[in-house]
Amino acid sequence: MDLRQYTKQDVAGKKVLLRLDLDVEVNEQGQVDEFHDLRLERSVTTIKELLDFGAVKIILCGHRGRPQAGYNQDLSLSPVKSRLEFLLNKLGVQEKINLINDVSALPESAPGRLVMLENLRFWPGEKNNDRNFALELGRWGEVYVNDAFGNSHRSDASMLAIAKILPAYAGLSLINEIKELTRWLDNLPRPYAAILGGAKIETKIPLIKQLLTRADAILIGGALANTMLAARGINVGQSLVEEEYFSIAKTFTDAKIFLPIDAVLSDGSVSDINSVDSEDFIGDIGPRTAALFKQKIAAARAILWNGPMGKFEDARYQAGTRDIVAAITQSQAKTVSGGGDTLDVLTKLNVIDKFSFVSVGGGAMLTFLAGESMPGLEALVIHTSH
Ligand code: ADP
Ligand code: MG
Repeated sequence: MDLRQYTKQDVAGKKVLLRLDLDVEVNEQGQVDEFHDLRLERSVTTIKELLDFGAVKIILCGHRGRPQAGYNQDLSLSPVKSRLEFLLNKLGVQEKINLINDVSALPESAPGRLVMLENLRFWPGEKNNDRNFALELGRWGEVYVNDAFGNSHRSDASMLAIAKILPAYAGLSLINEIKELTRWLDNLPRPYAAILGGAKIETKIPLIKQLLTRADAILIGGALANTMLAARGINVGQSLVEEEYFSIAKTFTDAKIFLPIDAVLSDGSVSDINSVDSEDFIGDIGPRTAALFKQKIAAARAILWNGPMGKFEDARYQAGTRDIVAAITQSQAKTVSGGGDTLDVLTKLNVIDKFSFVSVGGGAMLTFLAGESMPGLEALVIHTSH
């Protein structure tokens, strides 16, 4: 997939509307801390490049969380703005970012070289790919740059409609994501092991289907495994499952798929997977499962990881994920990872640099690796005729 790239001439002396991945976790103090800012670190590299190329003004935009339409203080981009300022400062950019609450304000009334528009999802037009909303956005810039790989599986107005209004280009981080993930798909050494965990089975089904044809081992943990186990008729007690997907989960019977053989329960005990009681809660994979998965990981020459092996936010349920991540980072294999909660784990364990590539996309990475189309990028793709 070739994306339209900008040159220095395309942005020099211009106002650039820059769509970023700003959907990051905010801590209890209401701040974006070093554990949740990888997406922002990638973003400031692009901002810096645009400034170096002579952009006169950069209007940053993006979304955070899933707000209903209307202003909502809790999902304001204000903490994101502060963290971006901090990260820009580290790159030698001292300027502050001027946060604008109203997209329909007069652009001339917003001074500063760096401006940020509030959470785009405060406006219903964003999710509806609404042309009028895109026109409103379009008033802010002369060119549009999309650097939001994490949102590229969605056809929001700030991804798609806007690209028909302003000259549109892909940003540095977006191009790098596509380059790295394409290289991954095109040169997969075997054996190839994929480790999938977390929840939200819906987002992972297309990838699992694709892995059945390409991977040698598909290791499944987390709540994803609970759903698969329950679909096969194994009692998982009070554990988190997604019942709506039992019928699909039941079809995944391939011998390449490995499910947990034991589990850590809420009282801290380890149970064989076939002896979980109706009152029990599965919080993590057990040590025998970890040993099985590690054996497959050690044999692999390509490893993909997405989704924690247990309820990682709870200290009682971290051992499985820690064990698996340690095995991946000790391996000589090519390794790729990414995702929302997955990024948090990688940052917390301080192992981002130990992977061949870490994607900032969650759903977007899963979609791309499953070989599905990326609606948010359609307007940026260069179609070459043969
Ligand atoms: P990602 O954001 O990396 O794509 P997901 O959002 O799919 O990952 O899943 C992460 C979530 O899954 C975490 O909140 C984690 O607590 C939850 N999870 C994983 N295993 C379990 C489990 N056994 N029980 C409850 N929640 C779990
Ligand atoms: Mg998540």
